[in-house]
Amino acid sequence: MDPLDLGDRLAQLMATGRRVSTYKLATLDALVQHCLENPVFDDVGLRVPIRDLASRVFEAYWPQVRVFGEHGVLRQNEQSRAGTVTVVDTVRSLRSGAEQRGLFSVAQFKEAAPHEWAATIRRLSITLAQQPLFALQRTGGREPGTAFLYDDSWLSKKTTVSSLDAHDWSITLFAGVPSALARVSPMLQPVLQQWWVDDVQRHNSAELEIPDLRAFLFDANRAGVARLAPGLREFQQNRCFYCKRTLSGAVHVDHVLPWSRVAIDGVRNLVLTDPRCNGDKLATLPVVDHVQDVLARSEVDLQAVAAPLRWPVETERVRNAARGLYRSTGSGSPLWRAPGVYDFHDGTAVP
Ligand SMILES: [Zn+2]
Repeated sequence: MDPLDLGDRLAQLMATGRRVSTYKLATLDALVQHCLENPVFDDVGLRVPIRDLASRVFEAYWPQVRVFGEHGVLRQNEQSRAGTVTVVDTVRSLRSGAEQRGLFSVAQFKEAAPHEWAATIRRLSITLAQQPLFALQRTGGREPGTAFLYDDSWLSKKTTVSSLDAHDWSITLFAGVPSALARVSPMLQPVLQQWWVDDVQRHNSAELEIPDLRAFLFDANRAGVARLAPGLREFQQNRCFYCKRTLSGAVHVDHVLPWSRVAIDGVRNLVLTDPRCNGDKLATLPVVDHVQDVLARSEVDLQAVAAPLRWPVETERVRNAARGLYRSTGSGSPLWRAPGVYDFHDGTAVP
């Protein structure tokens, strides 16, 4: 499938379909991230576990269920019927319970409460099957036969557990779709974010300041990852990961693979930097050399940084995401090396 055709169809679908909640956007972004982290060759399909999507959707809402200043918790859907439990309600109640137990990130929660996590993701998977996955490829809601991403003929507003069992709790992306979604992701992901910001603005009656709102919804969990700074500082011998200068004063924990492309908080994806490097890199992909250095760090040493905080390392996830991201980045795209210094992507892949 031609990536531009796919991007065009998705843009039209999202622009013309009635979005009663942000769940479709969250689900589509989860699909894109799954494809980036599970790169495949050109024209094959891909089986995607719905639990994987549910886990990504959960993580996307985790920062968004905080209180937004005087506005309280933001609405993510149109006025719903009394008594309806939404995805946001689920994430919010889990988050507040987790915080009372001293768990401040999804990663910590997963490590500390695996059974509760599994049960939540199972419930959320059923919701995804009945709502956004069923509705994603339909503009009006009922018309059949427009599936172009995955076969959704077995999904409905009443999808049952036995039906999910029969499909191994998975959807299967059509041949060519996974690589096309990954290829179109640099354009699609910022657009999804923009729609998401617009929708939240629309679902909340108050006037919200857009730049504040965007940062609130989508910035990485700085306070959470900052807890890893002391351990990373020791591991990096008090030097900036990128420029190797001695760290003095403020430090930043940087997501090497940008948070806005693949939301990976594992220590393998985190480095300590000075404000100059982090402030210049922003959401740009770094040169492949930096990623190779990140992947070459000792697993044992990273475990030593992560374990006291019950934080995951996620080496394989970072490696796979790096493969997917660089494979789907166009030749000639700028890659960040140092403040003000860019290389141009020459197609070098991450081994
Ligand atoms: Zn630096």
